[in-house]
Amino acid sequence: MLSRLEKRANVRIKSDKAKQSVTNSFSITIFAFHMQKIYDDPEIGEVLLVKSTRAKRLSIKVHPTKGVRMTIPYYVPYSQAVLLFQQKRDWVLETYQKVRQTYAQGSDPLPQNEFEEIVEEYRQKAKETLVPRLRMLAQRYGFTVNKVTIKHNASNWGSCSSKGNINLNLNLVRVPQVSADYVLLHELCHLKYRNHGEDFHRLLENLCCQHILWMIQEEKSQDATTVALMAKKSHAAFPVQHAMEKGLKNVRII
Ligand SMILES: [Zn+2]
Repeated sequence: MLSRLEKRANVRIKSDKAKQSVTNSFSITIFAFHMQKIYDDPEIGEVLLVKSTRAKRLSIKVHPTKGVRMTIPYYVPYSQAVLLFQQKRDWVLETYQKVRQTYAQGSDPLPQNEFEEIVEEYRQKAKETLVPRLRMLAQRYGFTVNKVTIKHNASNWGSCSSKGNINLNLNLVRVPQVSADYVLLHELCHLKYRNHGEDFHRLLENLCCQHILWMIQEEKSQDATTVALMAKKSHAAFPVQHAMEKGLKNVRII
């Protein structure tokens, strides 16, 4: 029996003669073309949902450069596929971060064009996610930011100029949200204190506490919960900053 979409593909062929000439591979191409949808996840990015007549159950593939692809049985509606995806989301996010990190740290140097492609991909993601996140945090915690620029450098995660401009390293898209937020809050605090003195850290610690609570309550962030537990046990002078910063430690800036 022809599937609905194969039928639709065939309807497009006007004459009976042309219809007969449709080969399997041709209809499969059209079939595959129609049977996928993109679900946009705020942190993971584009997730390709692919319907397959052969799939008996759902499967998720996570690739460092090709992204996330979920194959679902043909009869599963996309809306249900998204719900199923959300149940697996934490695993996908964690795995995706891991494979990308491993990829970026791989011993074989990437060919130059592939490297540039990855950097461009990070830059784009940084513009789409980090900049609005910084603006949101600034508004939430009462800071006025001038210009935000995404930088590609290996020397720092972020910086802040005396004119109120903030630079953010595009590698921040590769670290857990809670650690990226730490950098954003750190740079925002520099708008008030230009140094790393006691007052600076006191303000930052205060904001980090508020922010972790907000992430737990509003964003249901698992990472924020982990940070809160770590901070509770920590003997560091500024325990919340210390715990939030941890996620930056093992990431090699590319
Ligand atoms: Zn600083």
